[in-house]
Amino acid sequence: MSDIWIMRIGHRPQRDKRVTTHVALSARALGAKGIYVDTKDEVLESNIRSVVDRFGGDYTIETGVRWQKAVKEFEGSVVHLTMYGQRVDEALPGIPKDSDIMVVVGAEKVPPEVYQQADFNISVGNQPHSEIAALAIFLDRFTEGRALYSDRHGKMTVIPNSRGKTVVDLSE
Ligand code: SAM
Repeated sequence: MSDIWIMRIGHRPQRDKRVTTHVALSARALGAKGIYVDTKDEVLESNIRSVVDRFGGDYTIETGVRWQKAVKEFEGSVVHLTMYGQRVDEALPGIPKDSDIMVVVGAEKVPPEVYQQADFNISVGNQPHSEIAALAIFLDRFTEGRALYSDRHGKMTVIPNSRGKTVVDLSE
């Protein structure tokens, strides 16, 4: 199975802190290996690392990474999620599963160069919505749901419960 990396572009630390945090956490929960964010944001890095520390896995975050460099140096397929792209159901079978993928998501307007440099421009419906929703649906389909309940061997582990909350805290 491919390793999945996320490239978040257009991040504005004050305005987008909540959305980018959710992009990063959703990507982690849905099986990505790590996220690159174009603008330096140490608070964001520390928040995500704190979740990884408690809930496990080896998810990484690096901020202040130029998307041009990340895309150019990436060895694998670059998938840009955009409402203008080809249908996700039609595009998915064409994405190689034996090499890694980098999924690019925007914030505000995405520069035209992203569309040109991506190997695939893929929509999750052709309605405008959210990078969090688009990424979650794309990753769930790409991984065929495999990441959702995979064990991250964290200090904190949630045991599914039909009513209350069951959490095993190994740090206690
Ligand atoms: N209007 C902006 C543009 O033209 O680039 C998009 C802004 S949207 C709030 C932020 C990001 O959400 C986009 O860059 C894209 O990655 C993602 N997105 C929003 N709707 C999408 C859709 N229907 N399919 C795929 N990605 C979508």
